[in-house]
Amino acid sequence: MASPPLRLQFLRSATRVRDLDEAGPEVAFVGRSNVGKSSLINALARQRQLARVSNTPGRTQLINVFGHADGGTVVDLPGYGYAKVPDRVRRDWPEMIEGYLLDREPLVMVFVLVDGAIGPTPLDVQMLEWLRENEVPHTVVATKSDKVKSSKRPGRRRDLAEGCQLEQGDIVWVSSTKGDGVERLRDLVRLHLSG
Ligand code: GDP
Repeated sequence: MASPPLRLQFLRSATRVRDLDEAGPEVAFVGRSNVGKSSLINALARQRQLARVSNTPGRTQLINVFGHADGGTVVDLPGYGYAKVPDRVRRDWPEMIEGYLLDREPLVMVFVLVDGAIGPTPLDVQMLEWLRENEVPHTVVATKSDKVKSSKRPGRRRDLAEGCQLEQGDIVWVSSTKGDGVERLRDLVRLHLSG
C-alpha cells in the first residue's frame, strides 16, 4: 500500500539543546551541506517549502523542529561542512550537533544522509565513526539515487556501503526528485515515531 506523506509542521528553531521543548519520540536528519536534506524532508512531507532547499545558511545553522501530526517530532540538523559561512559559525557546529546527538533525551534515530552519487566523503565517514563510538542509533540514507546511471548502480551501492562500513541492505537509497525509496523511508520514520 502507498505510504502517505508525513504530516509535518514547522514548530521552532533553536541553537541549543536546552532551548528545545520536551517531545515524544524524535528522529533527526543530518548530513553534509548540499547532500539533499531539505529536498528529502520536503519529499517525505510532500510539501515544497517545509525545509528550505539550497543556500540558506541563515536557517540551516539552526536546529529546526517539525511536529508530526500523528505523534513525535522530526529535527533537521544544520548541514556540516558548509563552505560559505564564517569560521566562527563553522567551528560551533560540531559542538552544537554533538550536544544535540548526545544529550537529546527523546532522540530515537538519526538518519545520516550521504550523497549517493559521490559519498561517503571523509566528513561523512568521520560522522559515522563518531556515532558508532558514542552508540547513537543511526541509519544511513543515500540520496540522489537518480544521479547514478543504472549500469553503475551495483558498483556504487557496493562502494558506498563499504565506505560506510555497512552491509548494502542496511542502507536506504532515495531520490527526492524521482520519489524512489521515499515511501520506504516514510514508513521507517513512522515506525520510529510511533515509539
Ligand atoms: P541540503 O543542503 O542538504 O538541504 O540540500 P538541498 O535539498 O538544498 O539540495 C542540494 C542540491 O541537490 C539542490 O540543487 C537540489 O535540487 C539537489 N537535489 C536534492 N535532492 C536531489 C535528488 O534526489 N536528485 C537530484 N538529481 N538532485 C537532488
